[in-house]
Amino acid sequence: VRKLQFDFASAGVDALLVTSLHDVRYLTGFTGSNGACLVLADGRTVLFTDPRYTIQAGLEFRGGEVRIEKKTRLMAAAALEYARKKRLRLRIGFDPNYMTVAAMEVLAAKLPAGCKLVPQRGVVEAQRMVKDEAELAAIRRSVLTNSAAFEAAVARIRPEMRESDLAAEIEYQQRLLGASGPAFETIVASGARTALPHARPTDAVLGANVVILIDVGAVQDGYTSDMTRMLALGSVSRRMRGLYKDVLEAQLAAIDAVREGVGAGSVDRAARNVLKAKGLSELFTHSTGHGLGLEVHESPGIRQKDKTKLRAGMVVTIEPGIYIEGLGGIRIEDTVAVTSHGCEILTPTSKEFKQI
Ligand code: ZN
Ligand code: ZN
Repeated sequence: VRKLQFDFASAGVDALLVTSLHDVRYLTGFTGSNGACLVLADGRTVLFTDPRYTIQAGLEFRGGEVRIEKKTRLMAAAALEYARKKRLRLRIGFDPNYMTVAAMEVLAAKLPAGCKLVPQRGVVEAQRMVKDEAELAAIRRSVLTNSAAFEAAVARIRPEMRESDLAAEIEYQQRLLGASGPAFETIVASGARTALPHARPTDAVLGANVVILIDVGAVQDGYTSDMTRMLALGSVSRRMRGLYKDVLEAQLAAIDAVREGVGAGSVDRAARNVLKAKGLSELFTHSTGHGLGLEVHESPGIRQKDKTKLRAGMVVTIEPGIYIEGLGGIRIEDTVAVTSHGCEILTPTSKEFKQI
């Protein structure tokens, strides 16, 4: 909480009601599944959670008061009740992105006299874009575990395996190597199914002489990682090898464009321009990447319309891809950390289109 860079006065609020669990964790260290915190302009912070987390909240949050709420499951309502009891008259900023209509109805009914709720979007999220040393270290651990789990699982690939077997193997290896779990539903697709950018692993066998797309991320110490690699299980067509080279060229061009002060949109453009020159830009149907940290998708978006200027300490993915129905798709994704002079590629896994 002491790190919170927010000018309460110029935003015209006296307190922030934080209801995104990732924001709560960022500010207080609390990792439970139900919680909210109220940060007052003088820095005083109260964490609200339910009785399941009495012991845990006490251990994890030492920077302020913990209130255990028994009467409601809605911790934002507990925060308003706290303000009422303490006779605080507050203009309370809250993030509409993390407030349901149902919760808002309850809060409106419980709002103490003299208090007001004021929408205040993305305050903590904006700060979370730039990682401190401890966060960078956690992301590095997550990235290394993710890559090691990938290598271990790849060593066990057999053509008769199902896509879901390989996904299970990767997630099992992640946990063995120190992750608390996958950062998202592991994507394993083989053959023509690689044309689905977010393919769910099915019970289809991998087969021989096919391309496999694996998009995988881990969570370790709360922080995520994200990587996509392509493998050739047996031999694959010259056309697919050619397209792989094209996507790799686009990916390297985007990585080259990453540095402090550069707009997120121009990194996206760097990848898109390479594919455009090859007549492939129509097949590149998503953005070039995204920030990651406590969540696997955070700001900034590496896409044309994102106006964010990159800053040292931001961590983003670079993942151009092309997808051809009936043939297959190719995506190559690394996690990189922005530095003052460029970026550091955190992902150690080789980008060779390996035949196994
Ligand atoms: Zn990914
Ligand atoms: Zn990604």
